[in-house]
Amino acid sequence: MSTDERGDRRKHQIVRNEALFREVNERVVEVAANYVVTETESAVDFTCECGRTECSETMLMTIARVRGDSRTRDPFRGRPAA
Ligand SMILES: [Zn+2]
Repeated sequence: MSTDERGDRRKHQIVRNEALFREVNERVVEVAANYVVTETESAVDFTCECGRTECSETMLMTIARVRGDSRTRDPFRGRPAA
């Protein structure tokens, strides 16, 4: 396999992973929204959506933040948990 082909494959893999992680996170929001009473204030672990296979980062964010509600202020300010 040429380096080009390898890079191409990797690119496709990353795109697939991004879509997968996005789906996972959407499900996390759905499930958490059903069980968390104060959804704007509760933080949940979300999977990083960068798509790299070696990345297993999680980000602690509130559901409101993930849903893009800019009116809601949260203690994490959308940053990944340290
Ligand atoms: Zn990542």
